Amino acid sequence: MKLVTCSAAAGDRIGVLDSAAGVVRDVGDLLPPGTGMLEVIERWAEYGPVLAERAPDLPGTPLESVRLRAPVPAPRRNIFCVGKNYREHAAEFGRSGYDTPSRSTDLPQRPVVFSKATTAVTGPHDDVDSHPGVTAELDYEGELAVIIGSGGRGIPRDRALDHVWGYTIINDVTARDLQRDHKQWLLGKSLDTHCPMGPCAVTADEVPDPAALELETLVNGETRQLALVKDLVFDIPELISTISAGTTLLPGDVLATGTPAGVGIGFDPPRFLRSGDVVEITVSGLGRLRNRIA
Ligand code: MG
Repeated sequence: MKLVTCSAAAGDRIGVLDSAAGVVRDVGDLLPPGTGMLEVIERWAEYGPVLAERAPDLPGTPLESVRLRAPVPAPRRNIFCVGKNYREHAAEFGRSGYDTPSRSTDLPQRPVVFSKATTAVTGPHDDVDSHPGVTAELDYEGELAVIIGSGGRGIPRDRALDHVWGYTIINDVTARDLQRDHKQWLLGKSLDTHCPMGPCAVTADEVPDPAALELETLVNGETRQLALVKDLVFDIPELISTISAGTTLLPGDVLATGTPAGVGIGFDPPRFLRSGDVVEITVSGLGRLRNRIA
């Protein structure tokens, strides 16, 4: 099932996206009043079967006339992110000089985990704020993101995918100058609107093999990143088992799995984003995230 969060006058509404018909079916009336995506995920065992059975009979609104928010517009806590998790990207980042203080082109021995503030989350078609005066080096990072269903601590590798509720796309927009100058990534990753997410959340049953997914990022129509998720240095089960080893994962937690080669600082000279640029990220079966730089 493909779920969306829609913006409406009276507040957010949960919808089921019928991508074949190009419509969104508002399922808010099948759920307790005020139910948001976090509650849907948390109570999926109860709500999922109801939505599967009854959503197809509901009227559809054309997708283009719906204002989509991020599928999880207000995550419970920071987005978990992973750095240097594709071989060629680790090399380009090391070469760029922005990887302070290590400046290493080597692959990490263990996953490099950092986070992105929840207030950075924005919709799949919303403008990305360029924050003039705060950053002059804006970059894109197309990523597959995992949404946790049942939480837990000490989740073993071989059971990790049982804890995945679904998948979405994230642009891990990065202010490279802040990332470099502050020697720590939180600020450079967390500016408002720097986490476009969506367009939908696709439940795990529709993605039997996440490693088979292909990711592409285009800037103004030009392909910049093209990779298979199977090329992750640390795969999704490894990331879940590593993070949950001593930190309880919660339903609705979002984990961005890392970006492949082809980001702006991978070029010489770097190709930073400018106002008016349009960044599009597609992942097979998950749709297209499309944001303009304001
Ligand atoms: Mg990233």
